[in-house]
Amino acid sequence: MFPADDKEIRSLVAAMTPAEKVDLVSGAGLWRTAAIDRLGIKSILMTDGTYGVRYSTTQIDADDDDENGLAAFLDVVNQQADDTGGMFGTTRPATCFPNGNLVGCSWDLDLLYRMGEALALECRSLGIHLLLGPGINTRRTPLAGRAYEYYSEDPVINGELAAALISGLQDNGIGASLKHFACNNSEIERTTTSSDVDERALREIYLAGFERAIAKSAPWTVMSAYNPVNGIQAAENPWLLKKVLRDEWGYDGLVLSDWHAIKDRPASLAAGNDLDMPESKPRKARLLAAVEAGKVDGARLDEACARVIALARRCQAGARPAVPVDLDLHHTLARQIAAESIVLLRNEHQALPLDATASGDILVVGDGALVPTIQGSGSATTNPYRVDNPYTQIAARASPDLTVHHVPFPRTDDVSLEFATEAVLAAASSAQVVIVFAENEKGRNGEGNDRDSLRLAAGHDQLIRALAGAGRKVIVVLSMPDAVQMPWLDNVDAVLACFYPGQGGGEAIARVLFGEQNPCGKLTTTMPDRVEDIPGWHTYPGENGRHVYSEGIFVGYRFYDLKAVRPLFPFGHGLSYTTFSYERMELDRREIGPGMGCTARITIRNTGTVPGKEIIQLYVRPVKPGLRRPIRELKAFAKIELQPGEAKSVTLALAPRDFQYFDATSGAWMLNAETFIIEAAASSRDIRQERALTCRSQSSPPATLSTCSPPALVFANARAEPALSALLVSRLNIPAYKASAILSKLEGSFLGFYDTLSWYVGDAIPEADIVAVFDKLNSNEEQQS
Ligand code: BGC
Repeated sequence: MFPADDKEIRSLVAAMTPAEKVDLVSGAGLWRTAAIDRLGIKSILMTDGTYGVRYSTTQIDADDDDENGLAAFLDVVNQQADDTGGMFGTTRPATCFPNGNLVGCSWDLDLLYRMGEALALECRSLGIHLLLGPGINTRRTPLAGRAYEYYSEDPVINGELAAALISGLQDNGIGASLKHFACNNSEIERTTTSSDVDERALREIYLAGFERAIAKSAPWTVMSAYNPVNGIQAAENPWLLKKVLRDEWGYDGLVLSDWHAIKDRPASLAAGNDLDMPESKPRKARLLAAVEAGKVDGARLDEACARVIALARRCQAGARPAVPVDLDLHHTLARQIAAESIVLLRNEHQALPLDATASGDILVVGDGALVPTIQGSGSATTNPYRVDNPYTQIAARASPDLTVHHVPFPRTDDVSLEFATEAVLAAASSAQVVIVFAENEKGRNGEGNDRDSLRLAAGHDQLIRALAGAGRKVIVVLSMPDAVQMPWLDNVDAVLACFYPGQGGGEAIARVLFGEQNPCGKLTTTMPDRVEDIPGWHTYPGENGRHVYSEGIFVGYRFYDLKAVRPLFPFGHGLSYTTFSYERMELDRREIGPGMGCTARITIRNTGTVPGKEIIQLYVRPVKPGLRRPIRELKAFAKIELQPGEAKSVTLALAPRDFQYFDATSGAWMLNAETFIIEAAASSRDIRQERALTCRSQSSPPATLSTCSPPALVFANARAEPALSALLVSRLNIPAYKASAILSKLEGSFLGFYDTLSWYVGDAIPEADIVAVFDKLNSNEEQQS
């Protein structure tokens, strides 16, 4: 129920003073909402983040202005992943799960749900009511500093995975905060650069993931973003927060701001941002002054108060006794999630899995094998309760005849790389297999910093090339926020993409290397071959405070497909130690029309010798669409487990929306194509089965007419000719056939309708008459009649 309709909440709001109302819609310190004791309104405790719970003892337990002030918050945002003393010293240990960039590659809703459950238990044990996640900003460029927190470049994956995690949290009494709404896709001047995005791209890509997640899981809160969207701050943007979120999607939870995102508090309240986080005494004072000056809509302020009270009640109702958490169990889950998400990008001549019982030497190279980079930097950073070290995990699996050595190789260029490379090559001379732990340069990504290249850390490319040239079996294990360039790819035997695998990553990597875990993750972003191939590259990161999203709807694989650009690895790609055949696909209908969905049934068989999991991707490809559309778009997916030789059928449902595009002129979703090809695929570039559906299109809505519209456009509206003819008959006092003759003279003109008409009839017909006719034609009422 909408909170303002709740009688009890209404009477609480009515009993509040203006100052109490302002307190309630503003934070109290860094991580709480205000309590109003005299009315029994309780405070809510919240904290980050997207893949782990960060409980800062100094900030949460202290009642100290310094610990709740701006400097303390900036420390949080600037927190580094490898902080060993610093902030971690004052943050309680928690489970650092795989980050969004890796867990996204699981495509596994059940795993996301279980991760949500585990996060909820950790929140409960710490007395936290609301977790500030998940984040689902579209990964439109791999350079984006916060790419590591997010799942995908595709809204279906973003929405589905977020909904699963949110349900896992909220089913266990902990609220979620779906963030950052919207278009927070770069860290460069992140609070002032406007994301300038056309409405079709907003609807079809950037908002679509939020819409899906909200419809499926009703997050208790949505967090508005730092940036302006099309020139208006997201936290002050009535189109975003009111028209789309509330009026169209019917969202009735609470909207809270990102930390200090609000610049004009009264404007943000009016636009629909209920809660201003964290506490800012200057913003509170400005809001109170505006309230007292009668410049704030009282009903809107009351509504925001009602939402905060409703959330506080939900949090209280959700509160369960805090039982101590079994962090070892969560560590096991973190390992499992990582193992089932890691993507095997390349595996030539079955270089992997390694045989743990063979004899010989394995050389493990790189500092990342001993001190792995398990997470990104910024406000999401979690203090891991325990970290698996890949080298130890690899060594522990080797039989007595298999020797495993390690040689360091730095990830920063503050040492002599030449010397380090020579040392590695010397150590590799007696090894059969070399496993290189490579990563991108440290400190060049994370919250507050976009990367400026896709390169690995200094010396890594050269080292890998040299090892491959020395004739060793080379396996590259990559830790990275998003795509990296791999100039050595053709020369190495195998590559594992581990992104940021969380605290259990070391064990998960070892399991994949030795085949205890058959890799079953697939990429949720496209990996470009070159930085220049990134969609929208030529307008990134914007200038003069505006960042034009020049690729429009062609985000990620939609762009690579449209431009026929060969990616390094396509969206949806991931190998397995087994093989799968897509044997059959059936659709439950042959024709699709307005308001209709469709179901696809696909049979898959494991044709290899080991058990494995396959991610089946269902794409919709419009043929001769009414306007330009992506070649194919992911609309559904499933992950299934198959024993060797086993076949299973999966059923995937397509909703009416999955066939539509957003028509920005009429503001409606439209169905218009000759045919749709439904594709069952192992990746966006590996289509295995397809079936056609003919389409009964909706007629496109007629163009909006003005007196400047060319006559051809006017007459394309079937109701225009009769209406204009009637006008000419009455104004010029001529018979209908003469009116038609005049109108037919206009047809070949590319000039505006009124200019052309007045050429023939002078000012006998006033422009206002034509405006009146067109107004009627343009109105929905007229179109439906
Ligand atoms: C981030 C949010 C985070 C908040 C609180 C901001 O800088 O953008 O994602 O929830 O800080 O730490």
